[in-house]
Amino acid sequence: MAEHRQRVDASRVEMVRGLADTTGCRRQYLLGYFGEELTEPCDNCDTCSAGTATTLEATDGEFAVDTAVEHAEWGPGVVMRTEGDRVVVLFETAGYRTLALAAVREHDLLRPRAA
Ligand SMILES: [Zn+2]
Repeated sequence: MAEHRQRVDASRVEMVRGLADTTGCRRQYLLGYFGEELTEPCDNCDTCSAGTATTLEATDGEFAVDTAVEHAEWGPGVVMRTEGDRVVVLFETAGYRTLALAAVREHDLLRPRAA
């Protein structure tokens, strides 16, 4: 009994941590945790207000086409297309670049910028 409670507590900690860390809509995150689906960001929580929810997590972490992004080294660009685990971005100065989404996520390479 105690062990089960510990596991549940641990998963709650994980859930809250993920909720704190997510750049997506927090309401979507929470509803997802409870097995419900919210197809659109709620437009009412802090990440929705900040604009990160719609640009990143709404497409399940993928970068949607036409998303305006900013790269630390290459500056501003626009997402041209996604190809499986890659995203192709046209940068204003660096031209077309293909980035691995795993690396983008891991190193936070692309940030959405206000359109
Ligand atoms: Zn929201």
